[in-house]
Amino acid sequence: MPTIRILTDRVANQIAAGEVIERPAAVVKELVENSLDAGATRVVVEFSHGGRSSIRVEDNGSGMSRDDALLSLERHATSKLVETADLDRLGTFGFRGEALPSIASVAHFELQSRPAAAPEGTEVVINGGKLVHVRACGLAPGTRITVSHLFNSVPARRKFLKTDATESAHIVQTVRLYALACPQTAFTLVEDGRVLFQSPVCSTLEERVGEIFGRQMTADLLLVDLAEAGLKLSGLIGKPGVNRATRHEMLMFVNRRPVDSRTLNYALIESYATSLAKGRYPVAVLFLEIDPAAVDVNVHPAKREVRFRNEGAVRGFVIRAVLQRLREAGATAPTFAPAQENRPGMPPPDHLPGDPIGPVAPVAPSMMSQPFRPFTPFPPARPAAGTGSPSAAASPPPLPPHSLAIQNPQSKIENPASLAGWRFLGTAHGDYALFEAPGGIVVLDRRAAHERVWFERLQAQFARGEVASQRLLFALPVELDAIASALLLDRLKFLHRFGLEVAEFGRNFFRIEAVPVWLEPADAEIFLRDVIGLMREGRLDERKADLAREELARLAAQKAVRLPPTASEAEALALIAQLFACTQPHLSPAGRPTQFEFSRGELAKRFQR
Ligand code: ADP
Ligand code: MG
Repeated sequence: MPTIRILTDRVANQIAAGEVIERPAAVVKELVENSLDAGATRVVVEFSHGGRSSIRVEDNGSGMSRDDALLSLERHATSKLVETADLDRLGTFGFRGEALPSIASVAHFELQSRPAAAPEGTEVVINGGKLVHVRACGLAPGTRITVSHLFNSVPARRKFLKTDATESAHIVQTVRLYALACPQTAFTLVEDGRVLFQSPVCSTLEERVGEIFGRQMTADLLLVDLAEAGLKLSGLIGKPGVNRATRHEMLMFVNRRPVDSRTLNYALIESYATSLAKGRYPVAVLFLEIDPAAVDVNVHPAKREVRFRNEGAVRGFVIRAVLQRLREAGATAPTFAPAQENRPGMPPPDHLPGDPIGPVAPVAPSMMSQPFRPFTPFPPARPAAGTGSPSAAASPPPLPPHSLAIQNPQSKIENPASLAGWRFLGTAHGDYALFEAPGGIVVLDRRAAHERVWFERLQAQFARGEVASQRLLFALPVELDAIASALLLDRLKFLHRFGLEVAEFGRNFFRIEAVPVWLEPADAEIFLRDVIGLMREGRLDERKADLAREELARLAAQKAVRLPPTASEAEALALIAQLFACTQPHLSPAGRPTQFEFSRGELAKRFQR
C-alpha cells in the first residue's frame, strides 16, 4: 500500500489546476477513479435524486490506514505524485490530491476505509469542510465514501444543477466510460435502490461493450489492434456503414483515461470519410496507448481534454490503423452503401409520385467513357486571360480532384422555365442523372436533388402544421439510455406535432405508436434515435421553432428519400422540374451541390473546336 505525502507548494503551484466539482457526476468521476487507482476489482456506485441527495462509491481496493485516511483529506495529499516530473509518467487517474478535500468542502462527507491487513476500519466524517469525528468502524477491506447534501452550503452551485433526470444521465455516462476503460473490474450502478446496470468482471472489451450497449451492438463492430513505434491503438470501431447522428458513441481513451481530443475525433471521422454522409458520425470505443511524456493531460482540470506533443504523428497513426481495418473489412463485407435507404428487393414506396421505376435509358457512350476527374470545366477565380487563351484550354492547369464540388453552383444553370430542349441521357454510377440541356450537359446528383425536394416539401408541411401520420399495427418498443430518455420525455408533445407518436412505458422504455407517412415504419427506430441525437446537441429547441423545424426537415428528408436504382426519363425530368421549383435548387439540405453543367462553350473549348 503506497503512503501519502503532501505535495510541496512548488509542485502544487506548477500543477496549478483547481479541481472543479461542478456537478454530481464530477463527484462520481473522482470517487470511481480513486477506486480504480486503488486496484479495485469491484466498484459499486449508488446515488439518489440525480446525486444531489446522496452518492456512494464502494470498492474492494487497497483501502487506507487511519493516518492515510486523514491525510487524504488534506489539500494536495496524494500517494500518486511526488515531483512534477512524475506528471510525465502518470499511470493513475488521479494525481492532484485535490478531489477528496474539494468534495468534502461542499457536502456531508463520510469516508470508511480499511486495508486488508488491518483488523478494523477507520471512519472519518466531515461536514462542509469541518471535521465531525474520526473513529474505528467495522468494514470489509476496501473503501466506502458517501457524499450527501451536495452543494447544500453552496446555493450558487446548486442553482446550476439541471433536473434530476439530467444529472442522473451524466452519472450514468460517467460510470459507463470507466466501465469501458476497465473491463476487468466488476461494476454495479444503482439509482434510488434500483440496479441500472451491472456487469461482472469481463475478460475482453468486447464483452464489456456487449454488457453496456447490448449484444446487438457488438455485431456492428470490428476489432482494431495496431502498434507502431511508441503508439498502440486498440478497441472497437463500427463496420463501414454503421454510423450515428451524433458523436456520442465515439468514445476515446488515452492511456485508459476517457478523453476529449479533437485530434482523435477528426482522425476517426476522416478515416470514415468515404462511407460517412455529412452530419453522421462513426461509432468507436478506442484506446490509444502512448508514452505519458508525449501527452498533456493537465490542459483542463475539470474537462477531459488532452493534447499531444506531436498531434500530427498521433493523427496519422490513428488514421492508418482505422483505415487499414476498414479496408480489410470492406473486402469481406462491403456495406458502404447506406443499407436502410437502398433495401434491395423492397419497392421504394415513396419516390417522386407518378414515376414508375423505368428501365435504364441508354447512356450516351461518349459521356460514359469520358473521364470526369482531369477536367477543369469550372476554373476557380483566376485571371480571365489565362483561362481564355487557347493554350490554357489545351493544357488545363491541374486542379485538386474535388474542384468540381467547390464551384459556385449558383452561376451555372438558369432555372428552366420549361424543360423544352431537355433530354434525359441516362443514369451513371447509380447516383447521377445526365441530361442534354439547351445550354450544355447537366449532371444531377439524384440523391441530393431528391433530398432538396423533400426538404422543402416537408418544411412547408411542418410550417402549415400539417401532420399525416400512420398508426402502427404493432407499436415498436425502444430501449434508450438515461440521457436519451430524459431528453425524449421532455419533448414527446413536440414530436407528436410532427406525426411521431411515442409513449413511455416504463423507465427508459418507450413505444413508437405512430410514424409520419413519409417514414418507412422499419426506419422508425433509427429516425427516433437520430432525432434524439439532435436533441442532445441542442438542435431541437422548441423555443426556436423555425430552426427546430428546419433541423427536423433536414433529417426527415434523408429518411424520406428512397432512391430507385435507376431513373426513367419521365422520372428524371420530373425530378429536374421539381428541383427547379424549389426556392434553393442548387444545394442539397446538407449544403452539397445538386447539379452542375458543362456548358457548350466549355465542351467546345475542351475539344479545341
Ligand atoms: P488523487 O487521486 O489526485 O491522489 P484524491 O483527493 O482523489 O487525490 O485522493 C487522495 C488520496 O487518497 C489518493 O492519492 C489515495 O492515496 C487516497 N484514496 C482516495 N480514495 C481512495 C480509495 N477508494 N482507496 C484507497 N485510497 C484512496
Ligand atoms: Mg483522485
